Amino acid sequence: MTVNLLDFDAQGLEAYVVGLGEPGFRARQLLRWVHQCGESDFARMTDLAKSLRGRLAYEAEVRVPQLVDETLAPDGTRKWLVKVDSANAVETVFIPERTRGTLCISSQAGCVLDCAFCATGKQGFNRNLSTAEIVGQLWLARNALSADGTGPAAPRAITNVVLMGMGEPLLNLDPLLPALRLMLDDHAYGLSRRRVTVSTAGVVPAMDRLREECPVALAVSLHAPQDALRDQLVPLNRKYPLRELLAACNRYLERAPRDFVTFEYVMLDGVNDSDAHARALAGIARSVRSKFNLIPFNPFEGTAFRRSPAERIRRFAEILQGTGVTVTTRKTRGDGIAAACGQLAGDVSDRTRRSSETQRLRPAAELNA
Ligand code: SAH
Repeated sequence: MTVNLLDFDAQGLEAYVVGLGEPGFRARQLLRWVHQCGESDFARMTDLAKSLRGRLAYEAEVRVPQLVDETLAPDGTRKWLVKVDSANAVETVFIPERTRGTLCISSQAGCVLDCAFCATGKQGFNRNLSTAEIVGQLWLARNALSADGTGPAAPRAITNVVLMGMGEPLLNLDPLLPALRLMLDDHAYGLSRRRVTVSTAGVVPAMDRLREECPVALAVSLHAPQDALRDQLVPLNRKYPLRELLAACNRYLERAPRDFVTFEYVMLDGVNDSDAHARALAGIARSVRSKFNLIPFNPFEGTAFRRSPAERIRRFAEILQGTGVTVTTRKTRGDGIAAACGQLAGDVSDRTRRSSETQRLRPAAELNA
């Protein structure tokens, strides 16, 4: 197969062009063409020598995953179905807000973790995504968000990237690292480290590697203040229990671009949402510099869990706040199009559940044109 330039970060691309007998700075030019201009046709990379363009056209390509569907929710949230091979599709979600635009990216097709309350886990694990498939979601989103769909959107349309889509990013760290470096690279997407967030259910050794190799903002899916409950909700806890997880958070903070970890906490009615749970979390907050992000549970077909009532969530937040913890409650975005946290399933046959509120945008063929 031909080389896919989307698989290379700056260093990898430099090694590749030097291998072709070219000066190293050509890598920077190529990065800008591919990631800043969203260009995939070497013939249009006019500041490269014709001979190099010919050589690249012969042995390399910019192979982007295929966008097969786009849905737009009434609140402006967009969800793209991105086909990575004939059997697998993942989902990418764009959430526009007044002061920022957040792109939620998937790292795996399916997930092995099988958290009790997550739709992705229920569909099982298919495979890891490659660097090109991870960063390709950002490439596609920038192009799709541009006014005419032919070039990348204004650099500021996507200000934040969160690895909170399908999959456990820290179980796919080798391909993830070059993708993260591209997100941060000034010649590629130029995002600040504080605005790229990896979310993990707590893969402790990989948290340590991320800290060493590419520290970005960290979110940890906590969901329970004690091991007994967390073992049930997040089975990975049996391997890396809370004490080890919290110690890893503190090690991470030594190198993190932000001085806190975000603890995500899904609010499940009658399961993890009592006053006592809130008070127990305050103890955790005392041991790790952190902020809490409460996520109202997003239901999906076949789940027995229910979302905590709004009043319960408010009271829970109030108790935590009363102990000095910073708490935000995540606004549920995109649930009308099954694009909210934990609803991403990405499997093509699943698209029939599209609700009447949603609007089919352009046909897939046009999107890829
Ligand atoms: N595997 C990573 C990232 C993917 S999930 C992780 O566990 O962090 C992103 C966030 O959505 C996680 O906090 C996850 O626990 C949460 N989530 C999963 N299913 C959910 C659901 N049905 N409702 C609300 N949040 C959910």
